[in-house]
Order: sequence, then C-alpha cells, then structure tokens
Amino acid sequence: MTRHSTCSCGQLTADVTGEPFAVALCSCEECQRRTGSAFGFSGYWMEENVAISGESKAWARISAVGRRLEFHFCPTCGSTIWWVAEFLPGRIGLALGNMDHAGLTPVVRVWDKRRADWLDHLDRMDVFEEGRL
Ligand SMILES: [Zn+2]
Ligand SMILES: [Zn+2]
Repeated sequence: MTRHSTCSCGQLTADVTGEPFAVALCSCEECQRRTGSAFGFSGYWMEENVAISGESKAWARISAVGRRLEFHFCPTCGSTIWWVAEFLPGRIGLALGNMDHAGLTPVVRVWDKRRADWLDHLDRMDVFEEGRL
C-alpha cells in the first residue's frame, strides 16, 4: 500500500509504502508549536519506504533529553512534512495530518502530562460531519 503526503501548497510531497512501525500522538510543547494544534500526530517508517519530492527547508532542535531532531518543511507554505531523529537511525517521521492516514491508528501517547484535558471529552462536543464556515 502506498500513502501520499503533501504540504498545503502541494510542492513538497512524500510517498510511503508499507505500514509504519509506530503511530503516535505527542502532546509535548514543541509538537504543539510545530503543528499549531494540541498534539502531533506522527508515523514512523523505515527510510527505504519513503520517497520525498520537492524543496524543503530544515530546522533542528534538541529534545528534552538531549537528542537532535531535524524537521523539514515547505519554504512556501510552511507545512512540516517529515523529520529525522538521532534516536531513530534509518527511520523517517511523517506528519500524518498531511497524509491520507485512513487506517493509521495511534498506539502510543507521548508527553501525556501535557495532553489537553478536553481530549477526554470529545464525545460531549457538538458534532458536524462537514465544515460550516
Ligand atoms: Zn507547500
Ligand atoms: Zn512532541
């Protein structure tokens, strides 16, 4: 199975084959900043299963436990598409919100002490099947 990932403007893409070896939600402060959302929704594949196309800029940071991560984002629209982490050699992380992520279910929550408490109450919200604005 091939899944397609794209930035908002469409020039930076990734095609991945096979299944990820991990799918995670991360509520760390840096994932919240990177996404502008309450958590990062990420999948990790072996690098030989990922084909990247298009121009990206990179930004690196050091994790809370001292390990380097390098994020690649579209210089036009700013979407982060993929990253590499020092602690996961040979693997590539992909932002699943940019991907056709049907069937990819998170199996781990990271930095859960920073998780938005309203995530426990999604069933109490008004629900619209499509956008209203
Ligand atoms: Zn773009
Ligand atoms: Zn995080």
